[in-house]
Amino acid sequence: MSIRYYSTNRNLKNVAGITPFTGKVSFKEALLKGQASDEGLFMPDTIPQLSLKEIQKMKGKPYSDTALLVSKAFLADEFPLENLKKVVKDSYNYPVPLEKVKPKTYIMRLDQGPTASFKDFAARMMARLMSNCRPKGERLNILVATSGDTGSAVGEAFKGVAGIDVTILYPEAEVSNMQKKQLDTIGGNVQALSAAGKFDDCQNLVKQAFSDPDLVKFNLTSANSINFGRILPQIIYYIYAYAQLMERDEQVIFSVPSGNFGNALGCEYARRMGLPVAKLVMPTNENDEFPIFMATGIYKKVSPSRACISNAMNVGHPSNLARFFNLYDGTVDRVGQVHKYPDMEEMRRYIFSVSVTDKQTRETIKIVYKKYKVILEQHGAVGWAGLVEYFKKYPEEKLAVCLETAHPAKFPEEIQKLLGLTMPLPDSMKNIDQRKGSAVSISNDFSDFKKYLQKNLKIKE
Ligand SMILES: *Cc1c(COP(=O)(O)O)cnc(C)c1O
Repeated sequence: MSIRYYSTNRNLKNVAGITPFTGKVSFKEALLKGQASDEGLFMPDTIPQLSLKEIQKMKGKPYSDTALLVSKAFLADEFPLENLKKVVKDSYNYPVPLEKVKPKTYIMRLDQGPTASFKDFAARMMARLMSNCRPKGERLNILVATSGDTGSAVGEAFKGVAGIDVTILYPEAEVSNMQKKQLDTIGGNVQALSAAGKFDDCQNLVKQAFSDPDLVKFNLTSANSINFGRILPQIIYYIYAYAQLMERDEQVIFSVPSGNFGNALGCEYARRMGLPVAKLVMPTNENDEFPIFMATGIYKKVSPSRACISNAMNVGHPSNLARFFNLYDGTVDRVGQVHKYPDMEEMRRYIFSVSVTDKQTRETIKIVYKKYKVILEQHGAVGWAGLVEYFKKYPEEKLAVCLETAHPAKFPEEIQKLLGLTMPLPDSMKNIDQRKGSAVSISNDFSDFKKYLQKNLKIKE
């Protein structure tokens, strides 16, 4: 029986402004739609199971083997095996280092992809799955508004993918020079537009485009971070890490620096598929709505969100919280209103969360370097600090893996200031200065943007 996807808002009857979507869709539909018509998030109605034996078999095998194991479990009914094999081979052609820091404690570096952040893992696989299920003979056009890192991960992921073009919109004045270079020079089927105005303006332009009837013929799609197609690939590395590191039937603790909770959600699903995860540690930066919720049982989003040095985690209401609530039998909506609280006892059994200040983050970078000669950047350091806090509270001898979600060379100022050294850029980004390409400048007026799209987007293959 194939897995179907329902909306996290399906039970919200009698809530103003929401017409709950009570049906179910296929994975392909969920992938192309991004979110349900009631603005809820798609959830699989069954979670496929993996036996410990199947997981253990992945020891010593390439990453793409684990990727195939997990994607087959979810997608075998909707994609031919040959296609899935090709998808995972093309997506994962870079290393996934597991670095030993001290006995039984590891750092998994998810920073070796083309844009040196863990977002490459999800974006690359999603891009190839989308290419596989676009309407026959037609093109898909991806529109993304970005304030930086997501745009380049998505752009690089779709680069050269058959039948799909990508238009990235970013706010001219709000991206760093390195980010601008990354976005402008992807090339091929990926074009950047630099818009006058702020990130919110970009997001509004994209939103308007999606609802404009004249643009329907272009098959516009978002590569949104809440797409289940981006969650599924994030299950894989937890299973991979465990298979490589386990020595006997033991449990494992993962620490995942968290912003929108998509990464941590991958671990939650891995556990529910059968991975023996003793605890999912979810440290946040000073956006502490979730750790406070775990401590008090009362949820209140942080608004506006706080600007911390782990800037990819500056989120005051994590978009994937709705999925966590749903998995623990609660409901929260897009704006952060709780309609039903989840089972707190059950949640605390599997999840530990703590807020890490910028001061602690910087100290962690220094201590970890001094003690272990390991270089972390600020997101990974939040993860490490969270793990340390967890072991302070629950001292036990368990296998533990902390995720490093970006490459330290992406944050040269902070690393220079704290450690007095410069890190070379990873291979994937080494020649960035010599890369060519430029953005098209547009105003923040929708009619300009629409004219650009009508003139430049293609319909047929
Ligand atoms: C996006 C991002 C995060 C946060 O991941 P979520 O899935 O949103 O919780 C952490 N670190 C880096 C470097 C990121 O880019």
